[in-house]
Amino acid sequence: SAAPEDMAPEVWAKVKDHPCYSEEAHHYFARMHVAVAPACNIQCNYCNRKYDCANESRPGVVSERLTPEQGAKKVLAVAASVPQLSVLGIAGPGDALYDWRKTKATFAAVATDLPDIKLCLSTNGLALPDHVDEIVAMNIDHVTITINMIDPEIGAKIYPWIFYKHKRYEGLEAAKILHERQMLGLDMLVARGVLVKVNSVLIPGINDEHLIAVNREVKKRGAFLHNVMPLISDPAHGTHFGLTGQRGPTAEELKKVQDACEGGAKLMRHCRQCRADAVGMLGEDRGQEFTLDKLPETIE
Ligand code: SF4
Ligand code: SF4
Repeated sequence: SAAPEDMAPEVWAKVKDHPCYSEEAHHYFARMHVAVAPACNIQCNYCNRKYDCANESRPGVVSERLTPEQGAKKVLAVAASVPQLSVLGIAGPGDALYDWRKTKATFAAVATDLPDIKLCLSTNGLALPDHVDEIVAMNIDHVTITINMIDPEIGAKIYPWIFYKHKRYEGLEAAKILHERQMLGLDMLVARGVLVKVNSVLIPGINDEHLIAVNREVKKRGAFLHNVMPLISDPAHGTHFGLTGQRGPTAEELKKVQDACEGGAKLMRHCRQCRADAVGMLGEDRGQEFTLDKLPETIE
């Protein structure tokens, strides 16, 4: 189909069959994730390391951890039985770029057999500037960065520490470095023509008002979409959220921030947080049909 009026043709070409980026495509195309990247270089207060990265996936779920080889094998099996499969994403369960060796090996193996599949990754952004050249070289044309603040004072309440250049940083200093790296990475990707989506986790009382400023800034820097997601606080996981007693936003609070951001970077409202090993159309998860024990020994 033709590009919508408000979209450049070269952008449309990249999003038209990506279910996470195009409202239209999400009815016809499927994406899958493989959980091959367990290591992470920052600590988000809302993260429990036992579960998937909360930045692109539904937190509090354990995904099947795979080696790059197993991950690639799974993608081929899914592609053979889900003809709508158009996108392979790597979103954890840690950080796809900090664990770059495994992410890259998985993408490389899949791209050899499925040259048309779109590759996509999500990251907290800290390691992003170091990998932009390789991202471009591998034809990864969609990257999601989770940006929860542009003010390190607020960042210090969200991130207790980061691990950067072999050193651990805490507090304001950590948040400042993370912020600078996120902005640099965003600018570098935009300059190279990679489509960038920004995810923000709405944490009531911490960054709710502030997300409007985040929206303005990421739009100015060329992010293509901004997705404001609710913090999902699950009492079943105890102190899951390092912010003690932190609750998630109500539907009303979420809508209020999303409405206030309208007119900034285009908001994505059809997004559902999915598992790091999700398979299928958006809002659907056929992951359990494709666990490792159910894959055929060899794939033609
Ligand atoms: Fe957890 Fe993801 Fe944050 Fe890393 S980036 S601490 S995996 S939520
Ligand atoms: Fe969609 Fe994000 Fe997964 Fe890419 S990484 S397929 S944008 S959920």
